[in-house]
Amino acid sequence: MRKKLITANWKMYKTPDQTREFFRDFLPLVTDHERDEIAICPPFVDLPAASEAIKGSKVALGAQDMYWEKEGAFTGEISPIMLQAVGCTHVIIGHSERRQYFGETDDTVNLKLKAALEAGITPIVCVGEVLEEREAGITEDVLRRQCTRAFHKLSGKKAAKLVIAYEPVWAIGTGKTATPQIAAEAHALLRGEVAKALGDDLAAKVRILYGGSVKPENAKALMSEEEIDGALVGGASLDPKSFAAIVKY
Ligand code: PEP
Repeated sequence: MRKKLITANWKMYKTPDQTREFFRDFLPLVTDHERDEIAICPPFVDLPAASEAIKGSKVALGAQDMYWEKEGAFTGEISPIMLQAVGCTHVIIGHSERRQYFGETDDTVNLKLKAALEAGITPIVCVGEVLEEREAGITEDVLRRQCTRAFHKLSGKKAAKLVIAYEPVWAIGTGKTATPQIAAEAHALLRGEVAKALGDDLAAKVRILYGGSVKPENAKALMSEEEIDGALVGGASLDPKSFAAIVKY
């Protein structure tokens, strides 16, 4: 049985004060939640406030991105060690907004993935097709390419903590959700790619999350699919009640 992981991606929302407010309201709603792993990924400047707020809770902290070097002359970047120093155990890598607006490529995803695993941080690697690719019938090719390049020169042994998030870009922030069947098909393909690149053992264990307009109303149907091992939630994770409802689906 794969333990589900429900992750919040706050994107560029909330100040440290708003972060404290969120946890004040959210944590009491999930105190007795044991079934799933919960990770919240706020903007970098909110991480210390979030780290303080989650002390003693079962909620984990993640970042939305990181650089692959330990330190150096890389203005504006944050290293795995820095994330760990403020209590991060998870990191999102290759989110479609990073690919679309900030030049993230399959190759930088590979470097970041290897650095996160090396540091012992749980990497949540995002893959997914844009609308034109789905309409052109090349979704499978796109997902295969993203996986092959992300997993380049990685071994199954080192990748034990790997998590993948299937996020069809046409479903992110649009209110359109992939049907549970569309998502499950993509997840099965991704699991096959993990088997090819990293071995059957890891493929059986790797958690594949779905992301794209997950809301309290659709969480149950999505999470009931055997192939869907959790969710990466953007917009609906900003409100404590709505994110708690998703966690409890
Ligand atoms: C995301 O940011 O990864 C995401 C899935 O956003 P939303 O839930 O708003 O579609």
